[in-house]
Amino acid sequence: MAIETVNPATGQRVRTFEADGTAAIEAKLALAQTAFGDWSRRPVAERAAVVGRAAEILDTERQTFGRLMTLEMGKLIGAAEQEAEKCATGCRYYAQKGEEFLRPELVAESPGGRDEIAFQPLGAVLAVMPWNFPFWQVIRFAAPALVAGNVGLLKHASNVPQCALAIEDLFRRAGAPVGVFQTLLIGSDRVGALIADDRVAAVTVTGSEAAGRSIAAAAGGQLKKSVLELGGSDPFLVLGSADLDRAVATAVKARIVNSGQSCIAAKRFIVVDAIYDRFAERFTATMGALTVGDPMDPKTEIGPLATPAILDEVAAQVERSVAAGAKVLTGGRRVAGPGNFYLPTVLANVPPAAPAACQEVFGPVAALFRVADTDGAIALANATHFGLGAAAFTRDRGEAERLARELQAGSVFINGMVASDARFPFGGVKRSGYGRELARFGLHEFVNIKTIRMADLPTDPASRADS
Ligand code: NAP
Repeated sequence: MAIETVNPATGQRVRTFEADGTAAIEAKLALAQTAFGDWSRRPVAERAAVVGRAAEILDTERQTFGRLMTLEMGKLIGAAEQEAEKCATGCRYYAQKGEEFLRPELVAESPGGRDEIAFQPLGAVLAVMPWNFPFWQVIRFAAPALVAGNVGLLKHASNVPQCALAIEDLFRRAGAPVGVFQTLLIGSDRVGALIADDRVAAVTVTGSEAAGRSIAAAAGGQLKKSVLELGGSDPFLVLGSADLDRAVATAVKARIVNSGQSCIAAKRFIVVDAIYDRFAERFTATMGALTVGDPMDPKTEIGPLATPAILDEVAAQVERSVAAGAKVLTGGRRVAGPGNFYLPTVLANVPPAAPAACQEVFGPVAALFRVADTDGAIALANATHFGLGAAAFTRDRGEAERLARELQAGSVFINGMVASDARFPFGGVKRSGYGRELARFGLHEFVNIKTIRMADLPTDPASRADS
């Protein structure tokens, strides 16, 4: 795959990059190793200050970063600027919480010793990242990893090289020493060799199931720690007592976030029979009335898909779903002309084996399902290989408690849409991956959780070797 910027709204090639060769990769690995020696020994407060300064730059330059995201992957300009702001919030969170999360936990203390659990960095962490949230996905790995004392090596998606270089530059300008955060301009064919290199301690990937399988296998082969943040086919349940207005408005937002290209976008809408017809009518009307067009225009509600390949895949998944018996309530086709545009689409009567029911559809395509009752809704919601997020609308407190417990997902949102937040762990179960990002759990993924037990030491301070 070429490493290049192609504007998804116009199809025009903007800039092409030469991939890093073997010598350049070797130099970056050597630099990462040297940088780790110094960075890992610095006080947490010093590392946190660098990440805090990155937050300030992200805030100040959110418009510039936003335009870059929109140019490279077609995100709506307003959402792109919000993404830069969210990155600033994420950096600030770890800058403030880093010392607390990394403070050793004292288990026992005696005059001659101390038992504690300490958190120490691992080394260079390789991050294989996707284009859909080209800044946020990287920052949510990098901010905790760097505060913890690791160094970062970024292999970003091949269609967002300018975002990748901008993030490297961001950390440099924030004061990170050379080599603490580096971007590798490489294709996915180079990832296996990097994982095998002794100077890479661990790997995190956010991406498709296929990428996750391949990277997990490579990491397993090297017995290296990996975190996988993979795809989803999130259910959105609407139960009998739901506030229908709020459910419809949130359902539309939850499906079209990032023009449908979000791992936690709601994809399967599971509605109880008693309100199915009313929900379907209003949801379809709202989806069908959305404005599709130029992502730089603030009035646009759905922009282009990031690449022609994604557009082809979404179109094929809808065609195969229709061939299997699904009915198109609105949309169901590409928009003629340049750019990777697909109409917001609602499918009904989707058979269980159709792509819209059992695969992740990474575009503005909603699948509606009618179920008899809450039991049926939970059963269908869980009848998937994925388990990233789940949303449900109900005004019944007992039902809400049951849904929160029984839905098989890394996150459950009642009367709201699934979203990531630096204060809460993010990740999935089943084929959506393993490990967690964000909160203290995310920071602790890439540390050596070390048991230290010290006994029988002289209690006289004058006996210290360095005194
Ligand atoms: P992708 O095709 O898997 O690519 C993601 C990254 O993996 C890219 O850097 C890609 O490099 C690389 N890659 C692909 N195949 C690889 C392989 N066999 N070995 C090593 N690296 C490989 O996914 P995408 O299309 O960019 O992103 C969409 C997917 O990401 C969706 O499935 C979405 O649900 C998932 N996602 C998950 C989360 C989460 O937190 N769970 C968040 C966002 C997105 P190239 O670009 O060079 O191919």
